[in-house]
Amino acid sequence: MFYLLKYYIQMKVLLRNSDLNEALSGFSNVGFVPTMGSLHKGHISLIKKSLNYCNKTVVSIFINPTQFNNKTDYKKYPRNLKKDLKILKKLKVNFVYTPIKNEVYRSKNKIKIHLSKKDKILCAKYRKGHFEGVIDVMCRLTNIVKPEKIFMGEKDFQQLILVKKYIENNFKSKVILCKTIRDKNKLALSSRNLLLKKGDQIKAGKIAKALISFKKKFFKRKITKKLIFTKKNELEKLYGVNIEYLELRNKKNLKLSNRINHSKIFLGYYLKNIRLIDNF
Ligand code: AMP
Repeated sequence: MFYLLKYYIQMKVLLRNSDLNEALSGFSNVGFVPTMGSLHKGHISLIKKSLNYCNKTVVSIFINPTQFNNKTDYKKYPRNLKKDLKILKKLKVNFVYTPIKNEVYRSKNKIKIHLSKKDKILCAKYRKGHFEGVIDVMCRLTNIVKPEKIFMGEKDFQQLILVKKYIENNFKSKVILCKTIRDKNKLALSSRNLLLKKGDQIKAGKIAKALISFKKKFFKRKITKKLIFTKKNELEKLYGVNIEYLELRNKKNLKLSNRINHSKIFLGYYLKNIRLIDNF
């Protein structure tokens, strides 16, 4: 009896598409959490949601090379597979999919990805080819896992909007949006935070706090472009960071906005040579 119980809660780690397909056959309401590993509480919140809402949960750990527009960034991306598997086992995840590149890119079928002019904003403007890589890999993974629900974080809001559009137009799967998890100094959790020194993590937390208060202060007032521009300069001077974009945009269509209602402040910046993004 004990042996059987252990068997039922055992997590399966799969490297090949065929093994994953076989393991998943016969199960309905499968939840999927795609990640690039170095798991933190942000990922864990997505996984817990999937475990709660779905019969079986698949977590993928795959650092997709095609979405990195910079080779060094890909090389230095944190990798912690052993620790990740420990976390996933403790959470009682059913299946972990950790493929090599050839497995994911085995199929020659490619969905046509065309980012329109209105999509080439925020990260799409500064990371050429990034979202094309993300959308392509998400379509491939969805085709392999065939989940009913895919859980993704608001932390990467532009990614979420674009992936949701492509996935829901091409597959039966639904993309479920999950709140951003922050640490106690308000810094959004991210695997890239591991690349920051302690002092820089504190700085990044102060920038997040400053923008949370900025949003609160202007809740009922117009936020003009000039106000945003002044805030951007202030943050750059105060924290010695290089801000790529600081923009207020509508949550639904990502059009520029001057009202906080239904909008978010989007931030992309470099702290030393580490690129961080957030939205408030
Ligand atoms: P990544 O491993 O960075 O590719 O992220 C995998 C998923 O976790 C994506 O859907 C992210 O949006 C989500 N995610 C990353 N950080 C957080 C966070 N702090 N809170 C919630 N979700 C997050």
